This record gives sequence, C-alpha cells and structure tokens, in this order.
Amino acid sequence: MNFICPNCEGHLLVGGYVIFTISTKQGKRGLTLLSPKLGDYTRVINLNFQLEKGEEVDFFCPLCQSNLAAYEIDKRLVRLLMVDESSEKHEIFFSGIEGENCTYKISEKKYEKFGITSEKYDHYFMTRRV
Ligand SMILES: [Zn+2]
Repeated sequence: MNFICPNCEGHLLVGGYVIFTISTKQGKRGLTLLSPKLGDYTRVINLNFQLEKGEEVDFFCPLCQSNLAAYEIDKRLVRLLMVDESSEKHEIFFSGIEGENCTYKISEKKYEKFGITSEKYDHYFMTRRV
C-alpha cells in the first residue's frame, strides 16, 4: 500500500504514517503524520503546534510543496492518491478542518466513506467516479 502525491507522484508513506507539511491561516507551519488506515484519525503532531477545533489547515506535499487542497471540488478537502496491495489506484479525500473526521475513498467501481462527520461532503462524491 502507498500514498502518493497527485502532483509529483512522490511516496508519502514513511515509518507507518503518511507525512504532510501543514500550515494554518495564522502562518504556523509544521509537519504532521496521519494514520494510513482510513477512518483512523490517530495522528502525530509537534506538541507546540496546537490546532483549534474548526481551524482550517492547509496540507502540502513535503516533497514538491504543492498544496493538496481539492480546489476543483472543495478547498477544505485534501486530495491524494492511494495504491493498494493489488496495485489498484484510488483517490482519497479528507477534511483539512481541524476536528472534522471524514475520509472518502473513490475507486473505479466503488465509493466508500469513513468518519463521524462523513455526511458533510458526501454529496460531492455520491455520483463521482475516478
Ligand atoms: Zn508532491
């Protein structure tokens, strides 16, 4: 399994986590590690980097620095690619809003959603296919 930047195709899975550079509207920047398990919102973040609930966080690829916001759908969503064990490619979206737990997995024939707030952006994906 791997998580891939849609812009540079760099691999973002390291040490069992998916790594991102993040920044807030106040200009705070840092690194965060997210669980690669969809629907698991365990993360590692520097203790000095406190996020407020509802705060909008931008996620960047640490390799090419591109902003991973899904501008064509909703800029609050972060987009990346996942390649699973059987080399199948999926589009992954999750919310960049602090405290919103929702993840969407879009595959050729299948759409799955995860997380307690997944209803929020559900309407974007109901009919969408890669
Ligand atoms: Zn990249």
